[in-house]
Amino acid sequence: MSNYPLEKCLHQFFEQQVETTPDAIAVKFKNQQLTYSQLNARANQLAHHLIGLGVKADVIVGLCIERSLEMIVGMFGILKAGGAYVPLDPAYPEQRLNYMLTDSQAPVLLTQAKLVGQLPNLNTKIICLDTDWELIAQQQNDNPIIELHKNNLAYIIYTSGSTGKPKGVMIDHQSISNHMQWMQTTFPLAKTDKVLQKTPFSFDASIPEFYAPLLVGAQLIVAKPLLHQDTNYLIKVIKDEGVTMVQATPSLLQMLLEDKEFKTCISLKRVFCGGEALSVELKNRFLETLNASLYNAYGPTESTITTTTYNTKLLSDEANSVPIGKAITKAKIYILDKNQKIVPTGVAGELHIGGIGLARGYLNRPDLTAEKFIYLFNQRLYKTGDLVRYRADGNIEFIGRIDNQVKIRGFRIELGEIESVIMKHVSEVAVIVREDQPGNKRLVAYTVGSIDGLRDAVKAELPNYMVPAAFVSLEKMPLTPNGKIDRRALP
Ligand code: AMP
Repeated sequence: MSNYPLEKCLHQFFEQQVETTPDAIAVKFKNQQLTYSQLNARANQLAHHLIGLGVKADVIVGLCIERSLEMIVGMFGILKAGGAYVPLDPAYPEQRLNYMLTDSQAPVLLTQAKLVGQLPNLNTKIICLDTDWELIAQQQNDNPIIELHKNNLAYIIYTSGSTGKPKGVMIDHQSISNHMQWMQTTFPLAKTDKVLQKTPFSFDASIPEFYAPLLVGAQLIVAKPLLHQDTNYLIKVIKDEGVTMVQATPSLLQMLLEDKEFKTCISLKRVFCGGEALSVELKNRFLETLNASLYNAYGPTESTITTTTYNTKLLSDEANSVPIGKAITKAKIYILDKNQKIVPTGVAGELHIGGIGLARGYLNRPDLTAEKFIYLFNQRLYKTGDLVRYRADGNIEFIGRIDNQVKIRGFRIELGEIESVIMKHVSEVAVIVREDQPGNKRLVAYTVGSIDGLRDAVKAELPNYMVPAAFVSLEKMPLTPNGKIDRRALP
């Protein structure tokens, strides 16, 4: 197992790269671009500005911004000041942004002028990276020298929480640093590589898109805002820019494969597919369409992006599922039964993850942290809630969830979070996932009580991907003999 040096923080790999390829193009967005030294200089100016405002190690800085060059400058600026960034999707309802900002207690929020009007009115210093730039640009542009250690936070990502509020997963520098070094060692990018950034930055799957190219001298191609599901646009960008690496959820991959132009994306060399189960059919279709490698990547936000990977070219023709593969460097895997005993090969159990990628825990949630990050076999382990088993060849197979967490189009959703929001308006509710047409999963909310105005009420609190596609009002809920809602008996 490799022992990557973990003393270096994420942005320091970038700073090192700036020395080597200062004039190479680092990032492109529409018709704008920045070289490595230009991006570094801007991020440094922002970092010095933030340091002046008191940002330092473990201080959380909000970043509420659309995809743009400023987004990249903002991320590196925060890291270089020593702070941890919390990405806030401007498309989220104000109430949710309000909750995240209050929970994270970010003293500073970076944004764009056009978004200020939709931000909650909190006691946070707001800086617009566009209209305030003249002021920021007065700062020096050399790398700030700061006190920062591998155990300080790099970012916080909020994910759906079953008790009604999202939870902030805290990731430190050594975890992400290990991940990025593992990636570069296992799937080395060359300076000629181009990586598409299109995953919304509020999900941890977006992180390798940003950093994989910029830590090694390759190019980051930033997709236009809002168009990350538009296959026509994505295919055009891949072709026009000669993109060599993309990540996609199986849902997006399916959509891309349905577009007959996708086969002309011949610049693609590697596609990482993850976030939900990858089917054999989809994998076959991809490998028949493009001469590129397809990896199944598995991992929860709580163990830093990717925990296992599998090269789908290795799968035999008879296999009826695509494994999630084997652990990445410094991730440890334990498959345990209900009594926390290791199960034999072939037997299903809950996947527990240990190792350097583990999050510090959930921000301000010591109870939940203690429940999900347990101490066993002399180490911390994260209980994933995923049911898996070992195959005879040592690869892991994903079977399903043991709780009410679901994935829809790659979005991680706790049904309990939607239910608690709806419960403010009705007396009983059950939200389930229905797949009436194969491949088209939808959320459906069943309630006892009026559904008038319910959709708007839910939209005011939850992001669009968590708003049920349909609301159904029932006389009464079907119950199981022991009095629980019988989800399978819902109409
Ligand atoms: P997230 O924290 O949003 O990355 O979601 C993590 C969860 O998504 C995991 O615990 C799994 O339930 C699911 N997941 C992620 N990747 C895969 C994959 N390749 N195959 C099956 N499920 C996956």
